[in-house]
Amino acid sequence: MRLFERVALSRFTTIGTGGPALRLGRPRSLDELEELLRWSAAEGIDVEVVGLGSNLLVHDGGVDALVLRLEGELAGAHVEGAELVAGGGATNAVCLHRARGADLGGLEFASAIPGTVGGGVRMNAGAYGVEFRDVLVEALVVDASGRRTLGTDALGLSYRHSALEAGQVVASARLRLEPRPAAEVKQRVAELLGARKATQPTTKRTFGSVFKNPPGDRGAGRLIEECGLKGHRIGGAIVSPRHANFIENAGGATSADALELMAEARRRVHEQFGIDLEHEVRFLGPLELPPL
Ligand SMILES: Cc1cc2nc3c(=O)[nH]c(=O)nc-3n(C[C@H](O)[C@H](O)[C@H](O)COP(=O)(O)OP(=O)(O)OC[C@H]3O[C@@H](n4cnc5c(N)ncnc54)[C@H](O)[C@@H]3O)c2cc1C
Repeated sequence: MRLFERVALSRFTTIGTGGPALRLGRPRSLDELEELLRWSAAEGIDVEVVGLGSNLLVHDGGVDALVLRLEGELAGAHVEGAELVAGGGATNAVCLHRARGADLGGLEFASAIPGTVGGGVRMNAGAYGVEFRDVLVEALVVDASGRRTLGTDALGLSYRHSALEAGQVVASARLRLEPRPAAEVKQRVAELLGARKATQPTTKRTFGSVFKNPPGDRGAGRLIEECGLKGHRIGGAIVSPRHANFIENAGGATSADALELMAEARRRVHEQFGIDLEHEVRFLGPLELPPL
């Protein structure tokens, strides 16, 4: 069993904060994944999954659970006809590369989302009007009780949400593609990445969008900006001067700094606009925002 002790999770989060996982499992096959899940159930240990940690805030004191990171064949991807079959740990970049190599498009939206397929399904990640649920055919979900193949309805995918619970692991997914010349895919990706660079802090350490956009015409970033919080700093964490719905690690930030900054932004937006912002970033370990 590929099980490691006290591994720093800051290595596995894009913002670069967070304490250790008391146990880190790195399964390389479906059998290894199932073995780890059965073991944790027998031991009464909770299970959490990390992908590329690009939408994660991990408690500074660490995580008392079995944290899983999918590797080996659980991180591979290949084309079958007009579909891509990807492990839950496959990065969006690898998936896009495989699809483009076969003159297939449809995943261009994911080029600016620095995560894995498992994280994309769990979050129903999306950009530029396309989300994972638009391209997902089905996902193989594994937990301590076994494997199930689920479609988009059973997964309950909606805006940055799925019905998946802790302990349910997306082991693989089948994504629908469409014929498109590689040169066209490449050009579209370049356009999308260019648009990203112009508006978001793409060269800084962040965990992507902090809050979901509330209903209405003003996004979370605009609301936080209108509270005058761009550039606001707590410890090593700052509200991005480029886009206020991002928190940057400006050097030496802790998860506690980021959490405090989130609480402040949420409190100010509530005070000024009466809107309750819901966090998009997922918490690992005992992290919680104070009530409004
Ligand atoms: C610069 C930047 C830009 C971003 N832009 C976007 C964007 O445009 N649109 C968008 O939607 N998001 C965006 N994000 C956020 C993030 O990239 C997405 O949410 C991504 O899908 C998360 O994938 P991940 O593998 O990194 O998951 P993680 O951050 O590691 O985990 C996120 C959640 O998914 C769960 N999870 C991960 N893998 C699995 C699995 N195999 N099975 C079950 N659960 C799993 C975790 O437990 C956690 O709850 C951005 C982030 C950054 C840093």
